[in-house]
Amino acid sequence: MSKNSSRPVGRHFLNIPGPTPLPDRVLRAMDTPIIDHRGPEFSKLAKRCLEGIKTIFKTTKPVILYTATGTGAWEAALVNTLSPGDRVLMVETGQFATLWKNMAEKLGLSPEFIKTDWRIGAEPAAIEEHLRKDKNRDIKAICVLHNETSTGCLSPVAEVRKAIDAAGHPALFFVDTISSLASADYRHDEWGVDVTIGGAQKGLMLPPGMSFNAISDKALAAAKSSKLTKSFWAWDDMLNLNKIGFFPYTPATQMLHGLAASIDMLHEEGLENVFARHDRLAEATRTAVRAWGLEIMCRDPKFYSPTVTAVMLPAGHDADAFRNLALETFNISYGSSFGPYAGKYFRIGHLGDVNDGMLMGTLAITEMALAVAGIPHRKGGVQAAVDYLISAHASPARAAAE
Ligand SMILES: *Cc1c(COP(=O)(O)O)cnc(C)c1O
Repeated sequence: MSKNSSRPVGRHFLNIPGPTPLPDRVLRAMDTPIIDHRGPEFSKLAKRCLEGIKTIFKTTKPVILYTATGTGAWEAALVNTLSPGDRVLMVETGQFATLWKNMAEKLGLSPEFIKTDWRIGAEPAAIEEHLRKDKNRDIKAICVLHNETSTGCLSPVAEVRKAIDAAGHPALFFVDTISSLASADYRHDEWGVDVTIGGAQKGLMLPPGMSFNAISDKALAAAKSSKLTKSFWAWDDMLNLNKIGFFPYTPATQMLHGLAASIDMLHEEGLENVFARHDRLAEATRTAVRAWGLEIMCRDPKFYSPTVTAVMLPAGHDADAFRNLALETFNISYGSSFGPYAGKYFRIGHLGDVNDGMLMGTLAITEMALAVAGIPHRKGGVQAAVDYLISAHASPARAAAE
């Protein structure tokens, strides 16, 4: 938005790490008359979604759909399986991990936090060490974020599973995939996760307002003896009615129309291609950041996130002022910073229905905004990202031609 104009021109650059830009196809799929949520047409739509979403979580077990944001699905995972006072192991990877831990406390659980400096993901070895010390096997659940959206660090879920097994610990394993599902490889069954929490408005390219619990047999068994209070979130009524394509209450019908379209789109592109695209866009972003001479918040490349990159500004420069300037001048939204790092970084979301050209628009805007804001940096980040993307596209094509 130019400073003297009241009308933003063109499309807004929505580069927050969720909600992500809505594909027109999803928007059109949702633009339909409301149908009877107890009628046959609805049941067909719901069954299609309930089956389809399993292919995204890579599970053959039930996935529950809630009319709620991701925070609701966090609560659902905890209250369906645990009892007051239960010890829960969590890893302080950043703001979202902290919010989930605060929720566990409010629900009457006893969370314990493995600390990090917010610049890495969850380390399997630290989890294993903590679990080995729990000789009485009192810890009832281990909660990890696959992707810590507040810092741009991805945790190795399969390796955390191995660490739990290596410690011989029987605790349930819960994973938040809200900002990685349908953007980074994820396998609920193969990785032995008991409850996977997902959300609609990030990799699934839907509006906010729907979230998920993918549930293992072990989690279903734990639900039978769980004593935390639950009503809206209770799995049992949902599972019974879902079998015939219905819900205990009125679900968000339009969201289901959108979800059916989004699942189709993901399979048409191919999940492997979706993941490769996110990896490519993330590496292009990091290439630009390095060329600018700025620091990436995630300090160990093995934890780099494919969906969001947090960029630290040089000391003395306020990242919130930078975001405001970029919004006013170039009509772009970035993610903000949190906790001990408030005002120190901004986040570039590159997930959902984003292609190379859209990302290059974002990176060009960012380089312009850095210059306009007077933030010390080197020029050439955009060119470096262009060169990276050319090489990323040229090599497979060349290989195929040879
Ligand atoms: C966005 C997000 C949440 C919160 O989801 P809401 O839909 O805002 O309730 C939780 N965890 C992660 C990792 C997220 O990215």
